[in-house]
Amino acid sequence: AAKRTGGSSLAFFEPHMAIDTADHLQLQSDLRQALEDNQFELYYQPKIHGRRHRMSGLEALVRWNHPRLGIVGPDTFIPLAERFGLIVRLGHWVINEACRQVAAWSAEGRHMRVAVNLSVHQLRETSLVDSVEEALRRYGLLGSQLICEITESVAIQEREVTTRTFEGLARIGVHLSIDDFGTGYSSLSQLRDLPARQLKIDRSFVKDIESKEDARAVVEAVIKLAHALRLTVVAEGVETQGQRDVLLRLGCDELQGFFYARPMRANAVLGWSLDESAGLAPAS
Ligand code: C2E
Ligand code: MG
Ligand code: MG
Ligand code: MG
Repeated sequence: AAKRTGGSSLAFFEPHMAIDTADHLQLQSDLRQALEDNQFELYYQPKIHGRRHRMSGLEALVRWNHPRLGIVGPDTFIPLAERFGLIVRLGHWVINEACRQVAAWSAEGRHMRVAVNLSVHQLRETSLVDSVEEALRRYGLLGSQLICEITESVAIQEREVTTRTFEGLARIGVHLSIDDFGTGYSSLSQLRDLPARQLKIDRSFVKDIESKEDARAVVEAVIKLAHALRLTVVAEGVETQGQRDVLLRLGCDELQGFFYARPMRANAVLGWSLDESAGLAPAS
């Protein structure tokens, strides 16, 4: 993933690198400052309902408007926020901000459903359900206007806490979506036991769907399995019309990717139109 929109590399930010003590302290204080100063911003990427050819919802993706470094992407700073113990506060901000934005769109007459990504650290917080409920109440939203995405590997590795948390969220109408599916090696029975409603096929399978028969076979099997479990299927990382066509043929319910739209600022969402994007209606 791009570490920064347009520009120089942020090599020293790489989470896997050993960061020396001075940098470590600097970044830690930068992140704390960023929370204080509201330097985070949510971008939104549409999810498209394939058959109906219309926007079904949006995924909120956080960005850091760093005062010196410019726009920093989440793959770079989420691991740092996790390491520094700041992810719960940041995650709380994300949930609240997404709800505020949905309410603002409602006030303009547009009913939107937004998905937020959760870190494993948020799942482990016993107060998560309460704080989601509080955010919904604060902005007068229904739980069904919010989806929470967690990765397959987290869902499986933390199955107990995931199940408990999502049973709580389900009670207030919030749906669970399993992100990056196909990379976490879960078994059928593990998947069946999760209170999930949606499954997102990882981009790596979508990428090869036209060129590699085995990738197509995996996607086809995943869609059948998901439907048997009454889950809806979203394909992520759809970049070409060819990929879109194969996915629709295989019965994928929703699609998301640069073919339709890149993540955009909130103020661009109402002006965005599916028909003006590359997403021309499929034949037939
Ligand atoms: P994700 O949830 O799987 O989000 C999809 C990522 O793929 C996003 O990267 C999105 O911009 C990118 N993407 C979407 N369509 C395409 C496409 O067609 N081609 C390609 N090459 N990429 C595409 P982004 O925004 O950099 O986010 C990366 C990851 O950071 C997310 O993966 C998610 O795991 C995490 N993340 C983002 N926002 C949050 C957040 O608020 N909280 C937490 N805990 N994690 C977040
Ligand atoms: Mg996601
Ligand atoms: Mg994903
Ligand atoms: Mg991902």
